[in-house]
Amino acid sequence: MNEALRTSFSNIGYIAASVLFILSLAGLSKQESARRGNFMGIAGMLIALLATAMRPDFSGYGLLMAALVPGAIIGGILARRVQMTSMPQLVAILHSFVGAAAVLVGLATYLGHTAEMTRAEHHIHLGEIFIGICIGAVTFTGSVIAFAKLQGTMSGKPLILPARHLINLMMLIATVALGVWFFRASETAPNGLWPLIFAIVITGILGAHSVMAIGGADMPVVVSMLNSYSGWAAAAAGFMLGNDLLIITGALVGSSGLILSLIMCRGMNRSLISVILGGFGTAEGTASTATAAQGEVRSIDVNGAAEQLKQAKSVVIVPGYGLAVAQAQHALSDVVRSLQSRGVKVRFAIHPVAGRLPGHMNVLLAEADIPYDIVLEMEEINKDMPETDLVLVIGANDIVNPSAYEDPNSPIAGMPVIEVWKAGTVIVMKRGMASGYAGIDNPLFFRPNTLLLFGDAKKTVEGLRNALTA
Ligand code: NDP
Repeated sequence: MNEALRTSFSNIGYIAASVLFILSLAGLSKQESARRGNFMGIAGMLIALLATAMRPDFSGYGLLMAALVPGAIIGGILARRVQMTSMPQLVAILHSFVGAAAVLVGLATYLGHTAEMTRAEHHIHLGEIFIGICIGAVTFTGSVIAFAKLQGTMSGKPLILPARHLINLMMLIATVALGVWFFRASETAPNGLWPLIFAIVITGILGAHSVMAIGGADMPVVVSMLNSYSGWAAAAAGFMLGNDLLIITGALVGSSGLILSLIMCRGMNRSLISVILGGFGTAEGTASTATAAQGEVRSIDVNGAAEQLKQAKSVVIVPGYGLAVAQAQHALSDVVRSLQSRGVKVRFAIHPVAGRLPGHMNVLLAEADIPYDIVLEMEEINKDMPETDLVLVIGANDIVNPSAYEDPNSPIAGMPVIEVWKAGTVIVMKRGMASGYAGIDNPLFFRPNTLLLFGDAKKTVEGLRNALTA
């Protein structure tokens, strides 16, 4: 195939892949079309790979295969093995790869740079390299810390250094100064390697420090912000390499991650700026303390809970992380069907940060064939709580914690929660009195209309199913 034909095929491939990526995102926005969206993304990526390999200036087939084959095998095995509950860690570590790739591409582009350029083009190119490397380093170290926090290797507690905003500001100023040094040193020959390396170190520390300063309860926003950063890092690599598809894909990932972060920030009543600066989730400069919840807990057994369910006219189920860990969704699906056949109105209430990753609960319920039309978002269902006879909270804790509204010192103060306490009766299903991800007490358990059904969610939900079908 001659060069012109290869270029044309490759360009058509890039356009097709870009369209498929956009359709993929559109598909992923709704549960009904998510599977189709996923396949479009996979098809887009395959076409992108083929189109890149077809470019006339491409010759590294051996290297491509050496990276692609082991990478695909390792990725495939990891993706098959990973539990849904460990997905955020996997996503975080994958973001770190994008960051590392942007740094390496930047260094290679800088050192291997030979093409003839005008002065203006040269300056733009240097800017692409410097900005790309800085975003890449922030993404890399930030994602590694997010991984360690989510995996539990590192404490989820925020690291609050005195004058941390000042430290961040100093690092930003130092990075700008290094940028100026880099430009000056690179004017005629690539002599700017030292400022580049210093900039990698400083922006790397900045990324790690920002994520270390963020408390566990705010990690969902961090993961989606790092997703956005990884997109911008990929886009920057696209500029460095002059690859339009990488720019488009990076911009899609960067902007969709940003939109998701904004939605989640709204869901948790945080401002995006404070996320980027780190250290949010606590009162300014001080570690927050929640008022310890006290009082008597009333418990109920499986048969008692089943009896209450039978008598209720309207039931709302609030699923949380514990339901996912216990894998109780299939038994729950049977409970729902059994209640519906008795004429009970059953609906689900989904909090935007329930579980350990965005959309976690929707995926879990879809897996158990629970119909989408009874799965409602928090804002849709909160107004119906006072008219609800019974709420079943299964393995959820932070997302139903009234101290978000009632205790201004709580780390989750201001975060919208599912107002389950407004219903007639609340049955909370969990194993003991342990706290949730945010590590804070929950006064809900001590409310007069709350009953606790202790036990592993799988056992208790199966118990409810048996009691309802007996
Ligand atoms: P929580 O982590 O607040 O609470 C889960 C509860 O489930 C615990 O209190 C635990 O209590 C119980 N539990 C654990 N295992 C079982 C089991 N096998 N059977 C029954 N119960 C069990 O979960 P939520 O879903 O309410 O809230 C999510 C939290 O995670 C929020 O703080 C959110 O900010 C955070 N987060 C969310 C992310 C996201 O993107 N969605 C990402 C990262 C963090 P016990 O041990 O007593 O059983």
